[in-house]
Amino acid sequence: MDLRQSLQDIRARIATVAHGRAIELVGVSKKQPLEKMQAAHVAGLRVFGENYVQEALGKMAQWHPADTEWHLIGPLQSNKCKEVAQHFDWLQSLDRAELIPRLARFRGADRAPLNVLLQVNVDDETSKSGCAPDAVLTLAGEVAREPSLRLRGIMSIPAPWPEHRLRSASFARLKRLFDELREAFDVDTLSMGMSEDFELAIAQGATMVRVGSALFGAR
Ligand SMILES: *Cc1c(COP(=O)(O)O)cnc(C)c1O
Repeated sequence: MDLRQSLQDIRARIATVAHGRAIELVGVSKKQPLEKMQAAHVAGLRVFGENYVQEALGKMAQWHPADTEWHLIGPLQSNKCKEVAQHFDWLQSLDRAELIPRLARFRGADRAPLNVLLQVNVDDETSKSGCAPDAVLTLAGEVAREPSLRLRGIMSIPAPWPEHRLRSASFARLKRLFDELREAFDVDTLSMGMSEDFELAIAQGATMVRVGSALFGAR
């Protein structure tokens, strides 16, 4: 797999639907070998998304160039807050209040704040993590109070509806929620869209997409 070519292809597909808006590409590198991440880095990718704290820390211990940015995008257990606060640049999966004081406590005052996205369970799937859409504003207020955390916006994984129309409807609901949040808080990031549907997500207003298999190949 030629990472330079696949990165170029994904960026071209993003540009086709972005109409000049800047879209942040997160390369989802869970279960991918370090060699592929390094090849993507050589090709210009700087932002990596990982799902599992232990896997990510293992990779960082071996390879952590200063210009890389690491996002935790998988569910966070409360006993991992310390590692996440100390080693990641972004947490995209904050979905409950109890994590907030723990994250804040372990983020050193000497560091830049930890960027935080609230994960929203937009299609109300029982199997999925994420807070209810009507809990977002309250949770946002609690994050915004912590100087060592920086609220940036929301993240979501809508239900994998096969019909594009239904997926677009979920993305559009998230965009409305993001706009509501933006009226009350200084946020700039709407993280939605993966390999299968990032173009649909961008068309509905995503500012950040998380692409794994389409970039790095099957896991
Ligand atoms: C695995 C994962 C992705 C990437 O999925 P692909 O279909 O491989 O692009 C994006 N976001 C989250 C939260 C994930 O867990």
